[in-house]
Amino acid sequence: AKAAGRNAYRFFKPEMAETIERRRRMEIDLRRAVEADEFELFYQPFYDVARGTISGFEALIRWRHPERGLVSPGEFIPIAEEVGLIDAMGLWALEAACRQAAQWPSQLSISVNLSPIQFRDPDLSRRVEDILNATGLPPSRLQLEVTESLMLEDDRATLAVLQAFRARGIRLSMDDFGTGYSSLGYLTKFPFDKVKIDQSFVRHLTEPENIAVVRAVIGLSRSMGISVIAEGVETSEHYDVLEREGCREMQGYFFSPPVPALEVAGLLMRFRPQ
Ligand code: C2E
Ligand code: CA
Ligand code: CA
Ligand code: CA
Repeated sequence: AKAAGRNAYRFFKPEMAETIERRRRMEIDLRRAVEADEFELFYQPFYDVARGTISGFEALIRWRHPERGLVSPGEFIPIAEEVGLIDAMGLWALEAACRQAAQWPSQLSISVNLSPIQFRDPDLSRRVEDILNATGLPPSRLQLEVTESLMLEDDRATLAVLQAFRARGIRLSMDDFGTGYSSLGYLTKFPFDKVKIDQSFVRHLTEPENIAVVRAVIGLSRSMGISVIAEGVETSEHYDVLEREGCREMQGYFFSPPVPALEVAGLLMRFRPQ
């Protein structure tokens, strides 16, 4: 009883009050930023190994804070999800990305991240449709990235929305593959076109276990007709191992970090077909 009492006491750490206060301030700041239009998109290329060119880009949101400079999404997306700002933010990102990609050469795809929270909106697929219509981007050029945590939401509703996207010709990628639970089962149950091997496997590609995972994911995906992209490719060693294992698409600092839209043309020049 004494120990329990001490534990209960420990619940009221001053750091917790601090964290709550920091979150509250962040929430207020985020709401202001949405009003003030302080978000922009950066784009990171997908490298097509066989063709030696760029096959598309992933849109990654940035917050250009008036005092703090560029704030990374890892810091504000979780809070936006918690306080109900992710719907507006996510749709803004989708529309801005589609509008941008509609200006690019037509062989380039655009990949946009969707939060699992956005799937709770019963009108999500109609909203995506409206954005395609408004921007004129052909659905076949759009890829939507979702993480495994989405599959923990309401199965049937989630499946229905994913199938609606698929029926429209939009492609679906499973992001951060291998970091969640029962990933393999999800691949058979949900209609994915692509899996993105999480950077945690790529980072330690010298460890035999990780090579084994990468090899298994590539083999399994291929047998299911699902394509594979490796994330977080940073070095020529990563590149060599992945190429040897038959990975046909890669993304990471080895090719380019995410860049502002203005630098996309330069990247296309640098990676143009020989
Ligand atoms: P993610 O979707 O897994 O995106 C990949 C992250 O890895 C990006 O971080 C990217 O900049 C980073 N990255 C790319 N190449 C390398 C590399 O070679 N090495 C390392 N160490 N990192 C690399 P970023 O841009 O900070 O985004 C973090 C996360 O924020 C994303 O992870 C995604 O979950 C989320 N996010 C970003 N934009 C959006 C958005 O528009 N909507 C939603 N819902 N989430 C977003
Ligand atoms: Ca992603
Ligand atoms: Ca990822
Ligand atoms: Ca991630």
